[in-house]
Amino acid sequence: MTERLTHFINGEHHAPANGEYFASTNPTTLDTLYEVARGSAEDVAAAVASADAAFRHRSWAGLTATKRGHLLRRLGDLIGENGPELARYESLDNGKLLREMTGQLKNVPEYLYYYAGLADKVQGSQIPASSLDIINFTMREPLGVVGAITPWNSPLTLTISKLAPALAAGNTLVIKPSEYTSRTILRLAELAVEAGFPAGVVNVVTGYGAEAGAALVDSPELAKISFTGSTGTGSHIASSAASRFIGCTLELGGKSPNIVFGDADIDNAAMGAVAGIFAAAGQTCIAGSRIFAHRSIHDELLEKITHRASTIRIGDPLADDTELGPLAFEDQLNKVKSYVDIGVGEGATLHYGGTRPEGLDLPGYFLSPTVLTGATNDMRVCREEIFGPVAAVIPFDTEEEVLRLANDTDYGLAAGVWTSNLQRAMRMSQSLEAGTVWVNTYRAMSPMSPRQGFKQSGVGVEHGIESMNEYTRLKSVWINTDEGPVADPFVMRG
Ligand code: NAD
Repeated sequence: MTERLTHFINGEHHAPANGEYFASTNPTTLDTLYEVARGSAEDVAAAVASADAAFRHRSWAGLTATKRGHLLRRLGDLIGENGPELARYESLDNGKLLREMTGQLKNVPEYLYYYAGLADKVQGSQIPASSLDIINFTMREPLGVVGAITPWNSPLTLTISKLAPALAAGNTLVIKPSEYTSRTILRLAELAVEAGFPAGVVNVVTGYGAEAGAALVDSPELAKISFTGSTGTGSHIASSAASRFIGCTLELGGKSPNIVFGDADIDNAAMGAVAGIFAAAGQTCIAGSRIFAHRSIHDELLEKITHRASTIRIGDPLADDTELGPLAFEDQLNKVKSYVDIGVGEGATLHYGGTRPEGLDLPGYFLSPTVLTGATNDMRVCREEIFGPVAAVIPFDTEEEVLRLANDTDYGLAAGVWTSNLQRAMRMSQSLEAGTVWVNTYRAMSPMSPRQGFKQSGVGVEHGIESMNEYTRLKSVWINTDEGPVADPFVMRG
C-alpha cells in the first residue's frame, strides 16, 4: 500500500478530518511517491488552535530566550544529522539535483544557529524622553500565531527562513507547505519534537493552496502571515491580511536582469549567466532570466552560454554527475514550454533548446536548457516570470540604456552585474531597483544577509536581524517617576 503522510498538529500526526488524500508524483520517473493528507478548514482550525494554545499558555514564549536558542540549535543539529535523508526526499519530490539539495541541507542548520544566537538579543531600548520625570523604554514582543506558506522549489530552506526568526522571537507556527513537497516539512515538525520543542509550537497542515492555504490565511487567530510564492498568490494573501490589519511578509516572483558589460571577465560572466538561469532548471525566484549583453561581447557571450548549455548533462537528479533535472510537475513543464512558443510568436528566435532532450530514457518532465535571442524587453518572455530554464539574451549599447531596461520591469528581486570597473559596479549597485545586487557573482545567499523584494517581488525582509524584528511588535512604556499631583489634565504630555 502507498505510504500516507498526515498533518502534524500539537506534537502528533493526525489523519485529515475529511479522510481525503492526494498522490504526490516523482517528476523524474512519474511514479507515485506517497499520498498526502488533503487539508481542509477543519484541519487548519485544529492546527491554529494548537499553536494558539501553545502561545497563550506560554509554553514557548515563556521559556527563557536562552533556552529557546538552545532548542533551535538542537533542531539545527538534528537537521544536520538527517541532512542526507532530507536532501534525498526533496530531490525526489521536486526533481532538483540531489547535489543542490544536499548543499542546501548543509546550510539549513546555519539558519537555525544564526537565529538561535539572536533569540536572546530580542530587546528594546531606552528612549530619552523630553521630561526628566519620565522613563520611556520599548519592549519587543512576539506577535502570536504565525502562518507560514511556502513553495516547492527549496522547501526546507524557505520554510526555515520563516521558522527560525519567528520562533527565536517567541511566536508559534502553523506551516502549509506546497502540495508538491510536503514530506520534509512534516519531518521538520517531527524533528522539532525530538529536539524538545513543546507540542503545538510547530504545526503542519498539508494540502492545496486554495483549500488548506486559503483556510490558514483566513484564520481569525492568526497574528501574521509569512508567504513565499508567486506574485499572484501573494497579492491575494496581502488583501486578506490587510482586511484584518495583520502583518504579512511576502517573498514573491522575479524577472531578474543579469548584466554583462564589455569589460567583464567573459568566461566568469558566461558561467554566472548559466548559473543564473540553468541551475535548478531555472526554478528559482532569483533566476537571471534576462541576460543583457553589451554589444561588443554579445556574440562571444552568446556562444559561450550556448556551448555550456549544449554540454549540460540532463538526467536523473539523484545521479552525481547530472546538471539539469526535470521540471517539478506537469503543469510547470507545460507553462514553461508555452512561454517558448509565446517568445517565438512575438518575434524572438529559438537559438537553442526549447524541446524535450533527445535520447533521454526517463519519462519525466524534462526540457532542454533554452536560449532565446532577438528578444526585446517589452516581450512577454522578458516581462513575465517563466520559472524554467529559459534565458533571453538581449544586446545593449550603453550603461544608461541597460539600467533603464533592467529597471523596466514589475519585479525587483535580484540583479547581477559583471564588470571589472569598480565605479560602474558601484553606480549600478546604487541604481538597480532590486533587493539584492550581485557583482561578479550570482545566486549567493546567507542567513546573515537581509533580502527583500522590491516592487512586485515582495513586502518585508527575510534573513538577517531585520527579519526577526518582523516577527515582533514594539511596545513603548512610559513611567512617571514624579509622585506629585498631575498638573493640567487638558494638555498632552511629553
Ligand atoms: P504559488 O504561489 O503557486 O504557491 C506557493 C504556496 O502558496 C503553496 O504552498 C500553495 O499551495 C499556496 N497557495 C496557493 N494558492 C493559495 C491561496 N489562494 N491561499 C493560500 N495559499 C495558497 O507558488 P509556487 O508555484 O509554489 O512557487 C513558485 C513561485 O514562488 C515563483 O513565483 C517564485 O518566484 C516564488 N518564489 C519566491 C521566492 C523569494 O524568496 N522571493 C523564493 C522561492 C520561490
